Amino acid sequence: MADIFSKGITTLNVKTSTFLEVKKIQTYIAKLNSETELLEKKIGAAVYEAWENGEEISEQLVAEELAGIRQKKQVIEEQTRSAEELTRMEAEILGKSESPKQEKSFCPNCGQAYTPPAKFCRKCGTKLTE
Ligand SMILES: [Zn+2]
Repeated sequence: MADIFSKGITTLNVKTSTFLEVKKIQTYIAKLNSETELLEKKIGAAVYEAWENGEEISEQLVAEELAGIRQKKQVIEEQTRSAEELTRMEAEILGKSESPKQEKSFCPNCGQAYTPPAKFCRKCGTKLTE
């Protein structure tokens, strides 16, 4: 009786904390996405302005902004992986085994097995296509 009760509490805790953690990651990803968009707009506007004024476009400035975008995109990928990992861990803790009928696929880069619809290889981070 006591066991069933405490197991219920644990399940609730795991679900709640996973939910909150994933939510937090999603909020962070959304923020990074809008920051990326802003940078893209900034570059576009700077390039246009230079063109309009017949000025040289500062390649160094553009390169810096582009590097900033790439950095953000990398963080977005990392965060996406973390959210997937969290969800997977939750399923593991709660004992929800993946359907055995589900076919395994293999990462084209490193050969790591994954279960669709995984977005990224959890070993090497390669983007996976279904
Ligand atoms: Zn891989």
